[in-house]
Amino acid sequence: MKINQVEFIISAVQPSQYPKDGLPEIALAGRSNVGKSSLINKLCNRKNIARTSQKPGKTQTLNYYKINDKFYFVDVPGYGYAKVSKKEKQAWGRMLETYFTTNKQLKAVIQIVDLRHPPSNDDQQMYEFLKYYEIPTIIVATKADKIPKGKLQKHQKIVKEVLNIEPNDPITLFSAHSGFGKDELWRTISQYL
Ligand code: GDP
Repeated sequence: MKINQVEFIISAVQPSQYPKDGLPEIALAGRSNVGKSSLINKLCNRKNIARTSQKPGKTQTLNYYKINDKFYFVDVPGYGYAKVSKKEKQAWGRMLETYFTTNKQLKAVIQIVDLRHPPSNDDQQMYEFLKYYEIPTIIVATKADKIPKGKLQKHQKIVKEVLNIEPNDPITLFSAHSGFGKDELWRTISQYL
């Protein structure tokens, strides 16, 4: 996809702040530090639209970016950061639950995992959460540049097995450093818009 325009719209903390223009939304979720900001920046050919290395766990907002005036990327705050209190985790869960259950424009969630390691318990819970709400999910396994070519398939298989990915949910291997998987991911995203 050719990206002509990327516009930061709002950090929404409650449903009344979600945009009301009816454009489709693709949300992005992942463990803190997994490479979510880098992925958004790479997809949009920008250096710094999604700030990389934000203080993990501190943002409890949904950040809306309008792409080409056609759809939104919705950046979901990272999960799995150990120092977050139980209360903050609950607030995060409630916010996502509200978003998932009230937002009719949400077309799919891109769940980002680290291809180097088997998905964590938090990753598994996130995927189960998405499936519970019957949200189409695109799994992206990033940092593929860290895995030797000959081992990519083996790592992909582990991600699929540990998350127990449903047959209709696509998986894409990705690297924000090399751009590997970018065209494939755009093709997949386009199918959900
Ligand atoms: P976020 O917290 O999920 O938004 O993660 P960031 O995008 O800030 O990335 C966390 C760290 O992982 C940074 O040091 C990035 O440079 C690194 N990183 C992100 N994507 C990749 C990737 O595709 N390959 C490699 N090797 N490192 C990556």
